[in-house]
Amino acid sequence: MIKTKIIATLGPSCAESGIIEAMIDNGVDVFRLNFSHGTLDEHDKLLETLNAVRCRHHQMTAVLGDLCGPKIRIGYIEPEGQILYTGEKVRIAPGNQVGTAHRFSTNYEHFNKEVDIGHRIFLDDGQITLRMVGRDGEDLICEVVVGGPLYSRKGINLPDTQIRIPSITEFDFECIDWAIRRSLDFLALSFVRSADEINELEEYIRKAGADIKIIAKIETPQALAHLEPIVNASDAVLVARGDLGVEMDLAELPLIQKRITKMCRDFGKPVIVATQMLQSMIESPTATRAEVSDVANAIMDYTDAVLLSGETAIGKYPVKAAQTIERIARVTEEYLDEQYTAIHPKSTTTKELALTAAMARSVAQLVEDIDARLVAVWSQSGSTARFLSKARIDVPILALSSDEISCRQMCLHYGVIPCCRPIPENIRQFTSLLDELITGNNWAQAGDKIILVAGQPLGAAGTTNSINVHNINALQG
Ligand code: PGA
Ligand code: MN
Repeated sequence: MIKTKIIATLGPSCAESGIIEAMIDNGVDVFRLNFSHGTLDEHDKLLETLNAVRCRHHQMTAVLGDLCGPKIRIGYIEPEGQILYTGEKVRIAPGNQVGTAHRFSTNYEHFNKEVDIGHRIFLDDGQITLRMVGRDGEDLICEVVVGGPLYSRKGINLPDTQIRIPSITEFDFECIDWAIRRSLDFLALSFVRSADEINELEEYIRKAGADIKIIAKIETPQALAHLEPIVNASDAVLVARGDLGVEMDLAELPLIQKRITKMCRDFGKPVIVATQMLQSMIESPTATRAEVSDVANAIMDYTDAVLLSGETAIGKYPVKAAQTIERIARVTEEYLDEQYTAIHPKSTTTKELALTAAMARSVAQLVEDIDARLVAVWSQSGSTARFLSKARIDVPILALSSDEISCRQMCLHYGVIPCCRPIPENIRQFTSLLDELITGNNWAQAGDKIILVAGQPLGAAGTTNSINVHNINALQG
């Protein structure tokens, strides 16, 4: 089993249960529903199919809902594909009119008030670049810096503009309510600009009595400017390279990825690297050399998970894409595990969790020194498992909890195998449960050393305070 977690986006290409099942068999841990595409009814159908597979599959999987956030889009264009020519002028009109290559509108009502002279306007993932040069009444006059064909509903990026659109839109709230009713495990917030927005979403979910972890998608210069408070406020972070690549200088992207993944290690937060990981596999059964190197590099940047978007949602080879990541991860993780100078980073965290984080580092050291085969932890809320994962222990971390939601949410942590079981009455019972689980799954043999991390009483959150060394089946073996 690989330690890197694979997140796959659901879509028409993997709408059949057989394909979903094959994806889980090939290492997919988390499925993503992307609310930017399709209707909630369509997502319901995908989720129903997925849930039917999950009921009969032994492997635990989680579901992530990806909120659209304040994505501004081009209005309707008729006919589609009219060309904006470099050097010419184009007008952006207020309101909701059908547009042409001379004058079009957007779906954001305050667009024309907030974009100012000199601001860059990127259309369609940066395929087209405009610069705002003046006003004529309520129209914006823009120069076409890089031209191209104009299509309806394509995205707009405004890296120079402070837009005042709320971060959680009305449609987002509809999607959040939908996600709460269906017990999704994660919600990703797109175009996050500050920690306040994460806190607002968290508050809303808490008031609804739900337990959904929040993932901050870093995709704008504003988010990078507030990276530390955003990472602190979120449960996990996603390096959204698609929009980042438009909003920032593309050449900076590898360094931004390293900066975000490093900060997540420092703060003990899981991190996901996303977008175009295996882009060519949308059409082709094999990946390019550059893509393979990119996936390996993300793993070497200590990402917890990699995300497939179009590769699985609309691609021709959704299962092969998962297989490809699985193979790259296997080879890359072997290399990482053999590195002589293992790094067990110190996590900066709240006072309450500081002990847990410190214990995780000690466990990592102990694993190396006594050559333990596995670490087993009773992690009721998942926090201890998270810090153990972040300490980059180079053996599998078997994490148990009686809380099914916590178990599913642990699917995101590098190296963690979540397992849902009733709370044992004492450590002795816990130990025999482990003997049975570990030998039953062939994770270790009689006589092997494993490390047990737990607290007393088992199952109470925030009590982790003991590290034990246990010999598998010591009595019988
Ligand atoms: P998206 O986010 O796929 O929702 O746009 C990811 C990204 O921008 O990379
Ligand atoms: Mn994006």
